[in-house]
Amino acid sequence: MLSVEAVSKTFGGVQALREASLACAAGEILGLIGPNGAGKSTLVNAISGTLRPERGSITLDGRDLTGRGAEHCARAGVARTFQNIRLFKDLTVRQNVEVAYITCRATRAKQAAGIDIDALLAQYGLDDLADVPAGTLPYGSQRRLEIARALALGPSLLMLDEPAAGLNEGESEALAMAIEGIRRDVGCATIVIDHDLRFINRLCDRLCVMDQGEVIASGETLAVWRDPRVIEVYVGQ
Ligand code: ADP
Ligand code: MG
Repeated sequence: MLSVEAVSKTFGGVQALREASLACAAGEILGLIGPNGAGKSTLVNAISGTLRPERGSITLDGRDLTGRGAEHCARAGVARTFQNIRLFKDLTVRQNVEVAYITCRATRAKQAAGIDIDALLAQYGLDDLADVPAGTLPYGSQRRLEIARALALGPSLLMLDEPAAGLNEGESEALAMAIEGIRRDVGCATIVIDHDLRFINRLCDRLCVMDQGEVIASGETLAVWRDPRVIEVYVGQ
């Protein structure tokens, strides 16, 4: 269970996060949405430890992660993908997954025992590409590799920052099915950021809507779409 309480962060004059709070339970798929610049990626960066919030607290299964750094958070079971793909481009596909698996094996023996790298590569359609440098993969395959690598951490929390961006309709349908499979097989808490609202509404149990650094609504997906503040942000201007 992830709990984010009143997290704030400013960049120069920009308040990127204003006392943002959210919660996500194991087995739940939470959609994090909002206009460009709302603070979604900044919130994911704070939760994954790449950015230290000025105020507020972040806990996972009761353990404090606030400002602990990316490595600490990864070892605690926080996995994420990036809005702009970040892979070890010169390492092979398999090595990218192995790096994450080694981190998991060092600190999360129970989760590591359930991970089979070959099976993971096959599941994400990467088995034939296992020995090529990650940087040479086509875009869609790089997106899949980022998810496979995140899963090799044996995550308790998985955060996907715009995973459907740049995918065609068939690819994003396959992605939605893969995320449902992760819920079933891994059972982690999952947070998905995306601008494709059809993709989000189909996939997510609950939504959290941000605007200008603030969480303006959160709750069950259909109820959130009836919230006047959400309607204003999406259709009201
Ligand atoms: P979103 O992911 O919702 O589009 P971001 O979290 O990327 O929004 O950005 C929120 C706000 O914080 C934006 O105004 C953005 O310009 C600003 N911001 C994000 N990261 C930085 C940074 N490293 N330095 C300065 N400003 C930043
Ligand atoms: Mg973003």
